[in-house]
Amino acid sequence: MAAISATLEATAGKATSEACMLIVFIGPPGAGKGTQAKRLLGYLGIGHLSTGDLLREAKAAGTPLGKLAAQYMDHGRLVPDSLVLDLVDQKLRESQFNKGCLFDGFPRTLAQGCSLDASLAKRGTPLTLALELRADEEEVVNRMLRRAAEEGRADDTPQTIAHRFEVYHQQTEPLLDYYRFKGILSVIDAMGTPDEVFERIKIAVEKRRAK
Ligand code: ADP
Repeated sequence: MAAISATLEATAGKATSEACMLIVFIGPPGAGKGTQAKRLLGYLGIGHLSTGDLLREAKAAGTPLGKLAAQYMDHGRLVPDSLVLDLVDQKLRESQFNKGCLFDGFPRTLAQGCSLDASLAKRGTPLTLALELRADEEEVVNRMLRRAAEEGRADDTPQTIAHRFEVYHQQTEPLLDYYRFKGILSVIDAMGTPDEVFERIKIAVEKRRAK
C-alpha cells in the first residue's frame, strides 16, 4: 500500500489542476458493470482499473500470480487481498490514471476499501463517488447463464454463480454501508436498457461534480 500511495502522490500534482474523478463501481456479478464502465470511461476520459480483467490477464499469461489467482477465481472465491493490492499498485503507475480512475471490481472487501482510503487520504484526494449498481438477483443470474453460453467463462457455472452472489452479500455489501456513511454512495437502479442505466449514472456523476 505504501507503493500505491507513492504512485498516487506522484500523479496528484497533475490531478489537482483539473477535477480528478476517483470512482468506485460496485455491483453484484452480472449487473452490467462492464458495459456501464465502458460508457462511463468514454464519458469522463479517465483510466479503467478492473481487478477482474487484471486477474484474468494474469491467469491467461500463466504468471505465478495468475496461476495462484485462478485457484480462487475458478471457484468463485475472492483472491487474497495481498495479491489484489499488489496488482492494483502495479497498474496505478500508468499515466492513464493521471486524470482519475474508475475502480471496477475493487475494492471488494471492507479491508480493501480501507487500504484504498488510507492511500487516498495521504494524497489528500479522497474518493469522489461510490456507485452501486443495484439489480434484481433472479434477472442477473439469467443474464449470467446466457453469457456463460456465449463466452464460456470458467466462473459462470450455476454453482459458481451462486457462490459469487454469496461472496458479494457477505464480503462486498458491507462496503456499501461504509460509503453510505461517508456520504459518497449513489445507488443506481441497474434494471432497464443499457441506455437507461447509463443516463442514471450520468446524473449521479454530474450531481457529484457540481458539489
Ligand atoms: P464479476 O463478473 O463477478 O463482477 P470480476 O470480473 O470483477 O467478477 O472478477 C472475477 C473474479 O476475480 C472474482 O470472482 C474473484 O475471484 C476475482 N476478483 C476480482 N476482483 C477482486 C478483488 N478486488 N478481490 C478479490 N478477488 C477479486
